Amino acid sequence: MKDCIFCKIVSGEIPSKKYYEDDYCFAFADLNPQMPFHALIVPKEHAASLAELDNLSDAALAACLRAAQKIAEQNNITDGYRFISNCGKHASQSVQHLHFHMLAGRQLSEKIV
Ligand code: 5GP
Ligand code: ZN
Repeated sequence: MKDCIFCKIVSGEIPSKKYYEDDYCFAFADLNPQMPFHALIVPKEHAASLAELDNLSDAALAACLRAAQKIAEQNNITDGYRFISNCGKHASQSVQHLHFHMLAGRQLSEKIV
């Protein structure tokens, strides 16, 4: 989609530090990491959020979820991670292309907020 920064990252128009890629999804380092390891996993097809999945294939959605295991293995993440998708206003979603945050590298709190 035109003017979407994550579509531009997927196409390579905007550079990123790539962690993983397959036919359906792309994973890269967050520009402003909130943890020692902070990756974003996005479907290559554009979908705005978890609330707008009608045009996203199940294969693309599954690929995003499956990518986490591969990224963990490739980056020696053995003590776990948190996997989050901010959806909409109350979640403070700031980029309107579906993405999953993969956060690792130190102990996180028991609660999300
Ligand atoms: P959200 O708040 O929408 O859940 O998360 C958006 C994330 O995208 C933020 O953590 C932000 O740091 C990251 N981000 C925004 N623009 C860019 C960019 O151009 N490149 C990369 N690598 N990350 C970005
Ligand atoms: Zn997009």
